[in-house]
Amino acid sequence: MKPHAEIAGAGFGGLVAAVALAQRGWSVRVHERTPAIRAEGFAIAMQPNMLRVLESLGLREEILRGGLLIVRRETRDEKNNVTMALRNQGAHRVSRQHIVNVLAQRAMQLGVDVRAESAVAGADPSGELILASGERLRADLVIGADGVNSAVRDSLGLLARRRVTGDGATRVMIPRTAEEVAEDDTLGPLTCEYWSGTRRVITSPCSRDEMYAVMSCLASDERARAVPIDVESWSASFPHLASLFERMRTQAEWPRVKWSPFETMRLHAWSKGRVAVLGDAAHSMTPNLGQGTGCAMMTALALAASVDASGDITGSLREWERRERPLIEHTQRWSSLYGHVTVWPQALRSLAFRALGSVGWLRRQYQRTAQHIPTGYSPDGTGGLPARRTAP
Ligand SMILES: Cc1cc2nc3c(=O)[nH]c(=O)nc-3n(C[C@H](O)[C@H](O)[C@H](O)COP(=O)(O)OP(=O)(O)OC[C@H]3O[C@@H](n4cnc5c(N)ncnc54)[C@H](O)[C@@H]3O)c2cc1C
Repeated sequence: MKPHAEIAGAGFGGLVAAVALAQRGWSVRVHERTPAIRAEGFAIAMQPNMLRVLESLGLREEILRGGLLIVRRETRDEKNNVTMALRNQGAHRVSRQHIVNVLAQRAMQLGVDVRAESAVAGADPSGELILASGERLRADLVIGADGVNSAVRDSLGLLARRRVTGDGATRVMIPRTAEEVAEDDTLGPLTCEYWSGTRRVITSPCSRDEMYAVMSCLASDERARAVPIDVESWSASFPHLASLFERMRTQAEWPRVKWSPFETMRLHAWSKGRVAVLGDAAHSMTPNLGQGTGCAMMTALALAASVDASGDITGSLREWERRERPLIEHTQRWSSLYGHVTVWPQALRSLAFRALGSVGWLRRQYQRTAQHIPTGYSPDGTGGLPARRTAP
C-alpha cells in the first residue's frame, strides 16, 4: 500500500510538499481553510534556490512564463543616489497567484486530494491530523504548512520564541507606464530599494504590464501605515517618487491591501513523532532577503526526499531538521540583520550598502541561501537525496 500524508495548508510550502511526495508515489491530501486557493501579497522575488525547487518538480518553465527576469538590483538614498548596484543575480519576479495556481494544478494532476474549506485544528504525534470539525485523519506523515499562526505547531507546543520586529509593509500592484516598459528594453528590468529615514519603497516590474511595490515602515509610523496610501506623507519622504505614489492612490486595488507586520520565530523542534511543521509555521522570517517562500519550498522538497529515502519516518524527520535548520537560521539571521538598517542614520546605512555591494564575504553571506542547492534537487524531477552542496 502507498504511504499516506495529510497536509495542513495549501500555500507554497504545503503545495510543494504535496507535489514532491506525490511524485515519489505517496497518496496525499491537502486541507486549506479558505474557500479558494488564493495567495496573499501579489508578487514574489524568485531566486535561484527557489527555481531549483521548481525545476525538481518539473514546473520551472511554466512558472517563469508568468514572470520577468530582473537583471539590475539597486539601493538608493533619500537623494536618489545609488548606494548599491548588483547585476545579473538570476532573480525573477512572479505573481504569487500564478505560482500557487501552477502548483495546485500539478498536485491535482498527480492525484492529490486538495480540499478547500477544510480548516485544521491540530495534530497528534502518533500520526493524526485533527480537523476543526473534530474529524481525525490517520497518516504515515502529517505536515503542518499552515502559515505563521499554525494550529498544527501550537497544538504540539513546538513554539520556543516568536518576535514581532516592530516594522512591516504594505504591498500593491499597479500598471506600468510606457516609459518604464521601454527602459526594460534598453537597460533591463530593475528592482530598486529607496530609503528615506525609517521608510523604504521597493519597486519591481512583475510582468511587462505590472509593477509590484512594497512600502515598509516602523509600526509606530501611523501615516506611513495608512491604507489607502497617504500620498502627501510618502511624497514628503521621497519627492522624486511623488508621481508614483499618486499612481498608487488611483490604480492600486486597495480593498485587497493591508499593512503586514514582520515577524520571526524559532521552534524547540520542527517535528514531533510523525508530525512535521515547515515554512512560516516553523521558521517565519522578515522579508528583507526575499527568502520566506524559497525557504518554505526548500524545506518542503527536502522533507519529501528525506521521508522517501527512509522507512523510519520519525528518524528521517529528525535527520531532515538536523540537515536543513542551519541554513534556514542563517537566512533568518541575515534577513533580520538587514532590517536593522531601518533605524540607522542615512550615512551609516549608505556605508553598509556600499560594503554589501563590494565586500566579498558580506555578499556571500547575504546571497548564500539564494545560491544553495536544495536537498532533493534534481533537474529531471526525480529528487534523490544528494550530499549537501552549496554552489560556489
Ligand atoms: C511584506 C512581505 C513581503 C514578502 N515578500 C517575499 C518575497 O519577495 N519573497 C519571498 O520568498 N517571501 C516573501 N515573503 C514571505 C512569504 O510570504 C512567506 O514566507 C510564505 O508565504 C510562506 O509560505 P507558507 O506556505 O509557509 O505559508 P502561507 O503562504 O502563509 O500558506 C499557509 C496556508 O495555510 C492556510 N491555513 C492557515 N491556517 C490553516 C488552518 N488552520 N487549516 C487549513 N489551512 C490553513 C492558509 O490559508 C494558507 O493558504 C513576504 C512576506 C511579507 C509579509
